[in-house]
Formats: sequence, structure tokens, C-alpha cells
Amino acid sequence: MQLLLVEDELEIQSFLKHALAEAGYQVDAAADGKTALRLATEGTYDVLIVDLGLPDQDGIGLILQLRQLGVSSPVLILSARRSVDDRVRGLEQGGDDYLTKPFALAELLARLRNLLRRNSPSSEVTCLRVLDLELDLLRREASRGGKVLHLTAQEFTLLEYLCRNPGRVVTRSMILDKVWGMRIQPDTNVVDVHIYRLRGKVDTEGRQPLIRTLRGVGYVLKDR
Ligand code: CA
Repeated sequence: MQLLLVEDELEIQSFLKHALAEAGYQVDAAADGKTALRLATEGTYDVLIVDLGLPDQDGIGLILQLRQLGVSSPVLILSARRSVDDRVRGLEQGGDDYLTKPFALAELLARLRNLLRRNSPSSEVTCLRVLDLELDLLRREASRGGKVLHLTAQEFTLLEYLCRNPGRVVTRSMILDKVWGMRIQPDTNVVDVHIYRLRGKVDTEGRQPLIRTLRGVGYVLKDR
């Protein structure tokens, strides 16, 4: 599930990015309306999370613009404005839900799940297939050749990311950014460790190895 987080307070942005990545979402972030507009029109997001107080424009204006450009993903508004008028205005102008700051992370996650459920019928991709690998995104279950793989939440997110980019080289920084929500490559081998564990479950003996390492570059999931 891909989210676009539009939040200019970098501390909140980075906290939410981490928390959402940990909950299994792939998150892109923007700190202003202009970047958000570009990302939202270039990519496809399952939900947009939009803060109303942005440096270059009002979040409501951004949502209106997005709707005019045909972006139909559900929008969860985040705002410090608590009045009923503000909430009503936000929901009338194209927002799908409204959460006032400060909020509990658990509530944000619950509302996200709600929006995703409401929006999930048929048109959304709910299953990814690469060769004999199959990922059920709603149940968050993976299998290979019909046999269930017992993955941790993070291993699943990592495999989902690889399956969304089959046959393409993904670098460690891309994986760190998309799976762990870290933009800078820290001094850690967290990616290698998780790839190693994932490979132990996906590429078991007697099967064609699917996860290839390109030394010094990154990884490729074989798609043929
Ligand atoms: Ca703000």
C-alpha cells in the first residue's frame, strides 16, 4: 500500500514516515504543496495524508487542485484546526476524513485502514504475482508455488517492494527509504540482514533462486 504524506513539520513527517513504514506502508513524503502535487500526479497512491498548514499553500487548496487534476485517492486531513467549521469545510472540499492534531498513532492507523477498506473494491491491486511467487496484499500473506511463506511484517513489506519492481535493480538506499522510511543510508546492514532472512524463506533448496544480489549495487527480483 502506497501512501503520500504531505507534512511540512519535518519532525512530525519523519516520525510518521517511520511509524507508517513499520506498519507496512510504503510512504513518500512531501513538505510543501508543490512537491505534493508533482508526486500525486506522477504516482498512484492508495491514500494521501495532508496537513492543512503548508508553507506555500493551504492544504484545502491543494486537495481541490488534486481533485481537479483527476487524483481520486482518498485524503485524510491532518490539522491543528479543531473547529466544526474547519472540519466541515475540509470534508466538503474533497477530504475523506479529518484528524486533529495532536492525535494518537493508533487512531491514525485505524482511520487509514478504514479509508483503504472503503476504497479497495476491485480496481485496486490486491495481489502481486512474479513467477510462482504470490502476494495477497489485503491479507498480507505470501506464498511460493502455492506454499505459504511465514514472513515477518517487515519481510513482507520488503518482498512487496521487490515484487512491485520485478526485474529492476533496487538499491539499498531505495529499500531503506521505501521499507524503513529512512532517506539517508545509515551505518547499518539492516537491508542485507533482512534480504538474507527473506532469501532463506523464499529461495529454499531445490527452487530457482529469485532474489539476486548485484554486488555493491543492490538487488533484483528475477521475473523470468
Ligand atoms: Ca503544518
